Formats: sequence, structure tokens, C-alpha cells
Amino acid sequence: MIKSDSHLHSTYSPDGFNTVMEMTEAAVKQGLQHIAFTDHHDFAEINGCWRMTSAEYEAFKNEVALARERFPQISITAGIELGLTPTHTEELRTLVRDYKPEFVIGAIHTIENADVSKPEAYEGKTKKQFYREFFETTLEAVKASGGLFDTLAHIDVVMRWARYEDMGLVYEDYAEFIDEVLRYLMRNGKGLEVNAAGFFYGLEHIHPHWDILKRYKELGGEIVTVGSDGHRVGEVARGFGLAEELMKRAGFECYYSFGVRGMGERSSPLRVWKV
Ligand SMILES: [Zn+2]
Ligand SMILES: [Zn+2]
Repeated sequence: MIKSDSHLHSTYSPDGFNTVMEMTEAAVKQGLQHIAFTDHHDFAEINGCWRMTSAEYEAFKNEVALARERFPQISITAGIELGLTPTHTEELRTLVRDYKPEFVIGAIHTIENADVSKPEAYEGKTKKQFYREFFETTLEAVKASGGLFDTLAHIDVVMRWARYEDMGLVYEDYAEFIDEVLRYLMRNGKGLEVNAAGFFYGLEHIHPHWDILKRYKELGGEIVTVGSDGHRVGEVARGFGLAEELMKRAGFECYYSFGVRGMGERSSPLRVWKV
């Protein structure tokens, strides 16, 4: 059973429903041994401003400290989900330097400032065009990040929202971009997130798509983190049974969590968990 949920949201995210304390309590009830809060920080516009001020981030860290006191049986990481883009490099760097999150999930949520969950991003485009733009942007954003993040969230999240008759992804159509992203992660000691939420957004699989998960392993990728992307108590560790099964089938024997990140370029210590 997966014991670590490295992708959770609290009321510090605009789309989060439960407090840090409530989410922690739910994780303890699920028998988890570790969780990471990764509330949204995006600079591209997503329904307005999706990030905390530094005062809010301090308040958030204080709530995590209280949850640690109340639930000493679980380890809690105070992280962020950072919206990577090819153009906000300076803002992203400054935020990580100033807020000092313990863990950073890199996530691509936009293509040229358009929120990929909104029709503006995909209307008038064929599925292949839209997906291609997304993976091209992902590669550019990952390279431009200078390694600011620890693990790459929901690598094929683009499939969650667009409304095409057939949402299916053919890995080969985008392999040139996807492979380069995977190689970047491996070269730089970054993780690939197994995000169990895909299944609950109308898809028939988790993120990444099976072909991408398999490809990562084939290339020699080892570091995977596991997250439910839960936004409410009922979603903590949701889909972990399926995620575990697919990880095993792809040949992964371990998964990882990241601990204290600290300043700038220092790489994060990893904790290894057996599948
Ligand atoms: Zn996300
Ligand atoms: Zn998320």
C-alpha cells in the first residue's frame, strides 16, 4: 500500500475545500505516513491570481507546524505546486528563493498564458495540434526552469479538460518532446509524478498515460513520486490502489518523496518507499 501522498491541496488553493488540519487528519485515517501540501502558485492567469502572498505562505507554514504537533505520527512537507512556463523564469525563481518551500512540484497549466482547462486554449485546434503545443510548451518550460522543481506533475494533464470526441493520447505522436522531457528529469535528478487523479477526471487512466510511464522506465527513469492531487478530504490517497498496480506492472519497485528543499540550487534529500 502506498504510504506517501505527495500532492495535496488545502484551502490555501482557490480550488481547495479543506484545511491543512482536516486534510492531515484524513491522511492519518487512511494510514499514510507522509503527505506533502502543494498549493497552487501560478503566474500565468488562471481565473485570476492563483498564488499566495508571502504573508499567506507564512500563515500556511504555521498551520503545517500546528498539524505536525497534533499528528506526530505522520510526516508533513510544506511544498508548492508551481506553474512552470517558458517565460516567467525570473518570477518563479524569486518565489522559490523567498518562500523557501520544502518541496516543489512543477506543473504546466498554460500554453502562452491560456489556461489549458479552458476552451480558449483548445478551440479551433485539432487534438493533435493542441496536444503537440502542450508537450512542446512542457519541454520549453522544463528547460527554462533551471531545475527549480523536484518532480514534474501530471505530465499529460492536457487530456483532462479539452473536449474532443476521442481524448486518447498516442505517445508516438509527441515522442520527440516527451522523451526529451523524461531525459531532462533523469539527467537532473528530478522525479516524474504518478498522479492518480486522471482516473477521476473522466479518463481511463492515471497520469502519466501507461505508454509514458513505461517509456520512462525503459529509458532508465527511477524517481517517481505519487500524488492523489486531492482537493478535499475524500480525495486523499484516492486511486492509490490502481496507481500502485500500474507502477508495479511498469517495473518500479520504489517510489520517492522529497524532504526539505532549502535554498536555491541545493538538491532535495529523497526518501525511498517500497512499492
Ligand atoms: Zn496541477
Ligand atoms: Zn494539484
